[in-house]
Amino acid sequence: MTKDDCIFCKIGKGDIPSATVYENSDFKVFMDLSPANKGHVLIIPKEHYDNIFQIDAETAGKLFSLATAVARAVKAETKCEGMNVVQNNGAVAGQTVNHFHLHLIPRFEGDGVSVTWKQGETEPDELQALAKAIRKHI
Ligand code: AMP
Ligand code: ZN
Repeated sequence: MTKDDCIFCKIGKGDIPSATVYENSDFKVFMDLSPANKGHVLIIPKEHYDNIFQIDAETAGKLFSLATAVARAVKAETKCEGMNVVQNNGAVAGQTVNHFHLHLIPRFEGDGVSVTWKQGETEPDELQALAKAIRKHI
């Protein structure tokens, strides 16, 4: 599947230039154009999937496997102390490009990058009920 109007499909095909870190027949790894930090890379499947709700498990598994190698490469080069792996799905979750992509964001002490949230509150009974309800859909 490919979408004519999708910028990441075009990057995947090489129709739009990118600072490519690595590619094979299925995936492309390239530098984020507006990086949260030095060394911020994106990993995409060349096939178009909107998001995690659409991508098949095999492709997602291969992509994450590749991500382990890319994460270590980014760490080796940038000497980052940590890394956030971020993957947004849907506009409400901050997704701006509707082609599945994984962010690898290197982190350095005191860098001021924020990918955190305010911790919420719940009750143990509520957690158990939700766990059971969600499990039914797996
Ligand atoms: P998200 O908000 O999770 O959809 O992330 C989309 C990411 O794609 C952002 O971090 C953008 O900076 C990045 N981006 C958008 N267009 C390009 C492009 N042409 N080349 C590289 N990165 C891009
Ligand atoms: Zn696409």
